[in-house]
Amino acid sequence: MRDPLVDGWAREIKSVRVSVTDKCNFRCKYCMPAEGLEWLPREEVLSFEEIARLVRLLAEMGVDEVRLTGGEPLVRRDLTTLVGMLAKTPGVEDLSLTTNGILLDRLAGPLVEAGLRRINVSLDSLSHTRFAEITRRDALDRVLTGLAEAEKYPELRPIKVNCVAIRGFTEEEVPALAELARRKPYVVRFIEFMPLDADEAWRQDEVLAGGEIRALIEERWPLVEVPAKASSTAKRYRFADGAGEIGFVNPVSEPFCSTCDRIRLTADGRLRTCLFSRREWDLKEPLRGGASDDELADLVRWAIQHKELKHRINEPGFVRASRSMSQIGG
Ligand code: SF4
Repeated sequence: MRDPLVDGWAREIKSVRVSVTDKCNFRCKYCMPAEGLEWLPREEVLSFEEIARLVRLLAEMGVDEVRLTGGEPLVRRDLTTLVGMLAKTPGVEDLSLTTNGILLDRLAGPLVEAGLRRINVSLDSLSHTRFAEITRRDALDRVLTGLAEAEKYPELRPIKVNCVAIRGFTEEEVPALAELARRKPYVVRFIEFMPLDADEAWRQDEVLAGGEIRALIEERWPLVEVPAKASSTAKRYRFADGAGEIGFVNPVSEPFCSTCDRIRLTADGRLRTCLFSRREWDLKEPLRGGASDDELADLVRWAIQHKELKHRINEPGFVRASRSMSQIGG
């Protein structure tokens, strides 16, 4: 084992989000333009072996939580192979994936067999027209079928449903999504809209705060707060009558940076110490240049020493992140 990874603010890094591709088969309005983005050239994208090596090194430094993201991770061919490699990596205790769910009907089984144990599915509306309006895809039925398929595997828990909350759109969705959490084994979470859209159109007044959504839900169903681990991004609640769980991820209205234990690895091998980083650390070049494990570990440790204290979304002069959400992976 190596020494744990501790940043300049005494926060220990325990979680890495690994983007396996910048490509996506959806065109969500709060993420990317209808025509998509210029994708990374294939040779710039880390191979499974390169990802597995970096994750092994991070695990040796105490990072025990790995989440696979994209773009849309399930568009990466043979992703179950990578899941299998990571699930066998010593020190990786928690392996999860965030997906838009459209390929889950086909892949839930093979992913679980390979070792996946948690899943987050993005779902912003239960109305066909509004789902198509926000994702630019008429795919609600396939996503719901994918969720139902995931349900068949008791090993894959919790199943989280992530809804990006946007003022003027999401209010209408809240009752149906809350009701979904009551009748299905899904933890529905509302995530505040963040300034990470490729169109750079985000405005503060479009943020529908978690507290407002909770109030909307409590008009119908009382909620009771559930204790969450210190570094958790979500505030957890269960319905007072016991029928399921709801979460609120409030990075704008209630930032949680003081307990942040997360770093990110982009599909092209850049280490991001914060979702809103303006600086990245290239691991691909040394990786492909023959760097030893120790040299790579030192580079990671150096980067972590420079991890940002917090985002500055609510501060004057806030400067957007150097990449959009689909190029970081959430
Ligand atoms: S904004 Fe940055 S520092 Fe804050 S919780 Fe997210 S990754 Fe951590």
